[in-house]
Order: sequence, then C-alpha cells, then structure tokens
Amino acid sequence: MDVSHLLDGLNEPQRKAVAADEGPLLVLAGAGSGKTRVLTHRVAWLVQAFSYSPLSILAVTFTNKAASEMRGRIEQMLGFPVAGMWMGTFHGLSHRLLRAHWQEAGLPENFQIIDSDDQKRVIKRLITSMELDDAYWQPKQGQIFINHHKEAGRRARDVQAGHDPQQQQWTRVYQEYEAYCQRAGIVDFAELLLRSWEMMHNNEILRLRYRERFRAVLVDEFQDTNNIQYRWLKEFVGPQSNIMVVGDDDQSIYSWRGAEVENIRKFEKDFSGTEMVRLEQNYRSTSTILNAANAVISRNQGRMGKTLWTDGEDGDLIRLYAAFNEVDEARFTVDRIKNWVEEGNLRSEVAILYRSNAQSRSFEEALFNAAVPYRVYGGLRFFERAEIKDALAYLRLTLNHDDDTSFERIVNVPTRGIGNRTLDIVRQHARANSQTMWHSSSELIQGNDLTARAANALRSFLELIDAMATQMSELELFEQVEHMLGQTDLLAFHGNAKGEKAETRVENLKELVTAARNYYQDEEEEMEPLSAFLAHAALEAGEGQAEAWEDCVQLMSLHSAKGLEFPLVFLSGMEEGLFPSQHALNDPARLEEERRLCYVGMTRAMKQLYITYAEVRRLYGRENYTTPSRFLQEIPAEAIEEVRTRTGGYQAAWQGHQQYDTESSALPGSSAGDLPLGARVLHDKFGEGVIMNVEGKGEHTRVQVNFEYAGIKWLVLSFAKLTRL
Ligand code: ATP
Ligand code: MG
Repeated sequence: MDVSHLLDGLNEPQRKAVAADEGPLLVLAGAGSGKTRVLTHRVAWLVQAFSYSPLSILAVTFTNKAASEMRGRIEQMLGFPVAGMWMGTFHGLSHRLLRAHWQEAGLPENFQIIDSDDQKRVIKRLITSMELDDAYWQPKQGQIFINHHKEAGRRARDVQAGHDPQQQQWTRVYQEYEAYCQRAGIVDFAELLLRSWEMMHNNEILRLRYRERFRAVLVDEFQDTNNIQYRWLKEFVGPQSNIMVVGDDDQSIYSWRGAEVENIRKFEKDFSGTEMVRLEQNYRSTSTILNAANAVISRNQGRMGKTLWTDGEDGDLIRLYAAFNEVDEARFTVDRIKNWVEEGNLRSEVAILYRSNAQSRSFEEALFNAAVPYRVYGGLRFFERAEIKDALAYLRLTLNHDDDTSFERIVNVPTRGIGNRTLDIVRQHARANSQTMWHSSSELIQGNDLTARAANALRSFLELIDAMATQMSELELFEQVEHMLGQTDLLAFHGNAKGEKAETRVENLKELVTAARNYYQDEEEEMEPLSAFLAHAALEAGEGQAEAWEDCVQLMSLHSAKGLEFPLVFLSGMEEGLFPSQHALNDPARLEEERRLCYVGMTRAMKQLYITYAEVRRLYGRENYTTPSRFLQEIPAEAIEEVRTRTGGYQAAWQGHQQYDTESSALPGSSAGDLPLGARVLHDKFGEGVIMNVEGKGEHTRVQVNFEYAGIKWLVLSFAKLTRL
C-alpha cells in the first residue's frame, strides 16, 4: 500500500519521527513545532505502514477534546473509522479499565466517580465524625494530603507519618476515607489512576494480556505526567510494544499537581535504545510573537535546551493595554474582538486567557452585555452546577444505593421533612455498624428507632429511589433522565422558586435531558448507558460544552490552553501577584513555573497577541493597586506597542511600583474637579504635596502628586485621603 501521503506536509525531522522504526521514541521540541501533528501522523503510519490494528493502539492526550480531534484527523488520513482505538486522557482510560475489570479491581460493578467538590464534602464529614474540629483540620488540607499521596502511589498504610502528630492525624483521615469510599463504592479522580495501576501491577495475567494487545503506546504532553501516570504507562509497555512520547520541558505547568518534568530524562534511561528526535521549526506564530516568547522563557534556569525558529513573517507588534481596572480591561478586549469580527474573522479564532478562573467573570459580563457569544472552558461548568449535581445524585443513587455521597446530597432535596436530627441518627448508626446510609436507614425504619414521622419520610424516600430504579430499567437514557426529573419533583421545586436564578436552574435541568439525548457512547465500552453517561458527566465536566454550534469567543485559564492555538490571543491580568501569582513571588521554583505558563500563553497566538493589565483590580472581593508583571519586562521592548500608556509607560510603572499607596478607605465627594493642577494637598501618610497630573474619570480618577518628603506618587482619588490645603 502506498503510504507516502502520510508524510505529506511534514518537514524532515518530523518525517523521521513519523516513519521511525519500532522502538522507544522521544520527541522533545518547543511550542508549535508540530509534536501533536507528528503523533497523529505516527498513529496513521502504524496502522497503514506497519499494519497495526487500531485495536492495538493506546494514545494518551491531555483532554478529551484533544482525543476526539486527533481521532478525527486520523480517520481523515486513513479514510476509514477507527472505532476501538483507545484514545483519551489518563483518567478516562483508567476509568475504562476499571469498568471492564471491576472485579479484579475490587470495586462494585456500579461504582461511581466523585469529583473534587464531592471529595471535599466526604472528607469534611469524616473529619467531623472523627470528632475533630474542621476549623483546624481543614477538609481542603485533607484533600490535598490524600491526593498528594495517591498521586505518588501511596495508600494510607504506605504513608510514613513519622512522629509528626499532624501527619499521623491526616493519615488516619486518609485511612477512614479509603474505608468509606470502598464501602460506598465511590472513586475519586486520583483513585482512578492509582486503582488501575495497582490492578495492572499486581495482576500478571491482565498485564500480559494488555501488553500483548497494545503494540503501541503514545503520549502527548509528556512533560506533565506525574509519578503514578508514568508508572501506569510502564505497565502497558512490554518488550514487544512501541512507546512514543512527545513533550516540551518549557511547557511543564502542572508540578503543583505532582507532574515531574524529570520523567523526560527518566524515559531515556528506562527505555534503552530510545531514539530522540528534536523539532526546531515553529509553524504557528509570527516571528515577533515567537521571539518574544523565546526571550521570556530564556530567563529560566536548568532548561533542557532546545532551538526554536520560524521563517514566518514578522507580523504585528504585541499590543499592550494598561487598563484602569478589570472592567476597563474587559471592555477594551471586547471592543477589539468586535473589530476582529467586523473585519470578517471568526469569533472562535479568539481566545481570552487568564491566570485565575475567577477572572473570567468580568469578561463574561462584558461579552454578555455586548451580545458577543462566548464559551468558558473550566470554571463554571455545566455538570458542576448545584441543580445538575442534585439530578445526577438521584441517578447515581438509583444505580447504587450504597453511594452515601449522593444519598446525603439529595435525601432532603426537594424538602421532604427529613431533618438533620434524623440524619444524625442514621449517620451514627451507619458508622457504628460500618454500613452505608441506605442500609442503616432501612434497619432503623424496621427497628422502630425513629419517630413515626421521620420513619415515614425516610421510608418514602427509599421507596421513591427503589421505584425509580425499577421503572427506569426499561427506558432509553434520555427518558430515564426525564423520568427522574418528574418523579423527584426537582423541576417543580426549582420552577416554583422565583427569580432569574430559578429560571436558569430549570433551563439547566432541561438541558440535562438534551445532554443525555446527545450523549454518544463508545460502542466498545460494555457499560449500562446510564453508568456511562454519569461517568462522562463526572469526567468531562468542563469539556461538555466543547462542541460549539455557535461561533463563539473562547475563554479559558492558561492551564487549559495547553496544546491549543488561536489567531488572536488576549493574555490578561499581567500583574505582579496575579501573574506571576502571589505565592510564586518569593519562590524561585514556582516563579519558573509561572514563566513557563507565560510561555505557554504567548505561544498560543498565531497572528496577533494582546497583553493587558489593570492598574486597579478587584478580585475575590478585594481591590488592589497593581504593578505590571515582571514578564512584561522580559519581552524585548521593540516587540511591544503600547496601546494605552500608563503615564510614563509600563517600564516606569515597574520601576516605581513601590511608590503606590495601597490604602483603601474612600473619601466621598472627592473628585478631580476639586483638585486642579498645582493644588496643594495633604495626605495623612505622605504629608504635603502638589498635584502634577490628573487622569481618568469618575471613580477611576488618578492624580499624580509630588510630595515634599515622600516623592512623586500616583494615587486613585476615591481611595486616597487627600485634603486640599
Ligand atoms: P504545542 O507545544 O503547543 O503542543 P505542538 O508542537 O504540538 O505545539 P502542533 O500543534 O502539532 O505543535 O503544530 C502547530 C501548528 O503548526 C499546527 O497548526 C500544525 O498544523 C502546524 N504544522 C506543524 N508542522 C507543520 C509543517 N511541517 N508544515 C506546515 N504546518 C505545520
Ligand atoms: Mg501539542
């Protein structure tokens, strides 16, 4: 068969990687050099040139969206569908394994996945039931502790707590948590990986079977694999299998989740005879953007060293906008997006990137007000909304009565007279007898241990769930969802409430039926459709909205932008303490990670890159004066065009950043009108001075004052306590 077309559109080193002989292969290369493209072509090559069955390929990508795009491209190249190819994220693939081998994994058949929010609730309840003070033993801390150990492959019994009483206590919480999850048949995200790794590691028959099956294992974004993921991979790679990994040490941005860039170095040692390919030409960005990104990342120490160049055009300068505040930043961004669209471009070609998910709100507001369609990845996720989680909890409980998390969530939603006192009795009974809530409830009802009213209320709840379970078994997936909404009165419950929020909740619940109707189940997955759907809901939360039917602007955190590219990119919130983030400011290792994140952000842009920062930012309910990010200083000044200049420019602002007053008690009635240039003023900290400059309007008015002793400072008038003399 002629396979040469699979090498079309590739440069020399790319071809070398795609058509490499069987054996371990490592592609180490910078952003936009075609790593993902090479991986995709390699899969097609293995199928067509080496006659691998699609069933024998395991490919790990960073998101489910990336996996489906990759599948699409491979099918296009091959000209036939490749159902049965295992392509997905570490979590998704682990889940698939556990479903197929729940018995070997020691799980109940109907085990359910809980997300991070549910995990925290569970931990909180356990902490309370252990009679610890949850103000001191914070659930969030416990969650970090547990996930950290799971990601390092450690069970509670493997944790070396030493003599540290705190570590010992957390280890006990971890132990309780493990026992609880096992009893309830629930699995958190980290558990998916740990459990499937243990299963493969300890079950030789299974391991050999999969090693025989998967002749090729391919991994994108390898720099962000953590300890357990790397071990997981190795279980699938036998002497016969081919492993190919692609990555970029400069784009390692998940060390806070345990990712180890060292895995790249380990790889060469662990797989002897590794062939290493380097790609050096960037095809994505203009040379202005690429050079600027290269300059920034060059400040990091201890890089593996790569070259990255482009023969593309210079393109536009990077535009820098100094906004008054976050509202102005959003307004500016939306204006530019409107221009972009008026010039005949697509909204989907535009990405707004931010460091912290909370930043999305001001952009959402501005886009909404300007009637510009947009989509948020991460953050406000459909499947994470409270009413949707209630509905999912009902569905989960019908499948698995032992799922205590779901039980707790909806036992009294909508209100059905099951009070906290009753629930406490059930909880205590459950704990004393190592039972689930469901089991305890039925025992207590039978044993006449509850008041008649409580017993009745609880009984009708159990009956409702049981009845639904029976009735739903005959229905199609979307009908099951509809049925549940009707039987549980969830729709009516929210429908009767007043206000816009209630309306949105009803809409969301209805949308859940649509989501179920549109849900496509991989044929190879032998799973109850409802189980598969619920797993999908838990796993793909933020990506659920991925298939846009409407052309819309893309909003996402820098972390979730990894691997993507857009003609027009806005990199927002470039301020010290936001990006780089506050906790990185005094920590060189974290600072380097922030710089890599900045590199990732800049290299998403193909044609135009805007960078914005706000002089005053209100975030998490606080208002702060800002200093432009140090990363701006690291971009060669020739590459930057300032669209609106902070007086003196961003460089002066950086140099003088300690001069900003950060008091925030307002002086009502003060406006620039009262303070003409040259007026003498008194500040209670800086003393006397003269107004030199006035900028902005209304509450954003800023004045520059030359203080006799404190020197020249910019102050926001509505916050600074100035008295005219
Ligand atoms: P990242 O590090 O951001 O994940 P990457 O190395 O995976 O980037 P790709 O996304 O595969 O890079 O490729 C970047 C862009 O360059 C894509 O639009 C891709 O189609 C294009 N590209 C890659 N190689 C070539 C080539 N040889 N000729 C033309 N375009 C190419
Ligand atoms: Mg890529």
